[in-house]
Amino acid sequence: MSALHELSASEIRRKVVAREVSAEEVARVHLARLKAVEPKVDAYLLVLEDRALERARAVDRALAQGRPAPPLAGVPVAIKDVLDIEGLPTTCGSRILEGYPPPFTATAVARLEAAGALVLGKTNMDEFAMGSSTENSAYKKTKNPWDLTRVPGGSSGGSAAAVAARTAPLAFGTDTGGSIRQPAALCGVAGLKPTYGRVSRYGLVAFASSLDQIGPFARSVEDLALAASVVCGHDPLDSTSSSLPVPDFTAALAEGGRARIGVPWGFLKEGVDEGQMARFREALSVLEKAGGRVVEVDLPHLPHAIATYYIVATAEASSNLARYDGVRYGLRAKDPADLGRLYGETRDRGFGPEVKRRIILGTFVLSSGYYDAYYLRAQKVRTLIRRDFERALEACDVVATPTSPVPAFRFGEKADDPLQMYLADIFTVPANLAGIPGLSIPCGFAAGLPAGLQLLAKPFDEETLLRLGAAYQAETDHHRQSPKL
Ligand code: GLN
Repeated sequence: MSALHELSASEIRRKVVAREVSAEEVARVHLARLKAVEPKVDAYLLVLEDRALERARAVDRALAQGRPAPPLAGVPVAIKDVLDIEGLPTTCGSRILEGYPPPFTATAVARLEAAGALVLGKTNMDEFAMGSSTENSAYKKTKNPWDLTRVPGGSSGGSAAAVAARTAPLAFGTDTGGSIRQPAALCGVAGLKPTYGRVSRYGLVAFASSLDQIGPFARSVEDLALAASVVCGHDPLDSTSSSLPVPDFTAALAEGGRARIGVPWGFLKEGVDEGQMARFREALSVLEKAGGRVVEVDLPHLPHAIATYYIVATAEASSNLARYDGVRYGLRAKDPADLGRLYGETRDRGFGPEVKRRIILGTFVLSSGYYDAYYLRAQKVRTLIRRDFERALEACDVVATPTSPVPAFRFGEKADDPLQMYLADIFTVPANLAGIPGLSIPCGFAAGLPAGLQLLAKPFDEETLLRLGAAYQAETDHHRQSPKL
């Protein structure tokens, strides 16, 4: 039998429910694994050993009493440190929130715990989810478990690395422009960004509110479906959460791989690493073997997606981050001469360079005189991108691309060149601009580094993504390979 920490969430749940292993044992094994590999990987900012063990014992007691088994009974989960848990620090990878204990718990986390999940800890991230490498964390650098000299991707790099390193079978992150899919691809795990509004954002610290979405990481698509079924669905505490019914995602997995797969070949012509492109072509053949038919689609406005995203996202960020003024929340400058300096000094000390850059950029694109030229125009291009997808997704069921144009890069390789870092998001930001769901699944290795296949679907059609992802994984075993740590 493989070690408990190698099992998927679904396998763990089955064993816990069958009482073959206790939830407490599951928690202990994962905490021991975490202690063994964390010195190398640095995925977590906070480990919640007591909380996880206490929850595990509660799951065991409930099962012993014959209560119905919840969907994530005894499944360890790691949570990106941008989701609030009442009374525990939420740092968002930033010094400015140091010492801030939120007075509430994010709906997504509350639903996970109510479903029997064991929260092992909070994971490292780029400050306020701004970045593609997790190098912008004010606290530490998370390493890619496949190559410790390389980044795990970002901004949810800690969650992706935690799942790749087998410290948790399941983790949660957020995706504003790719921060679930891109680190999933770079770490060789699967990640799902649900449709905008599918998961409540209550208790999620806002970066760009019209783009932010919470979603799961796991190794198998089956686990993503299980996790999504728990967190999706309307929440009265978030008025943008959708009231559409949530289908049984797990049931959809059995429906096979028949689909029209649209590939925007024109958009993939340049700038994609050769190895990543080779794995992408192979992945398409696997999908064909599973019942798919590849067709070409045209998404003419995608070349403008990066520029559009970095205007919309920074504009919204500049407004959302205005609340960190030293009066509320964590850090406060000591003995400022006046109120203006309280704001200024707190922000100067509390925010890192990337966050400052985005606040300045966002304030600029919203300023009178430039609003029409930048922000308003970006909103119009956003509409064109959304329409591109509407049209394309009539001619096909999913759009497929590589998740990332490049594999995991070395620390420092892009850190000094923000534009290069932004370009790493070329294939992921369009989905957030259009509000549609996206899946990334591991599709092999190039030069020893993981490659990811991205599938995008119509709004609220996560089922098709998960169904095709499962059909792909039934034909391959990339997702079963473990890094040597
Ligand atoms: N890398 C993108 C950015 O820096 C996306 C981040 C995200 O999805 N949170 O904005």
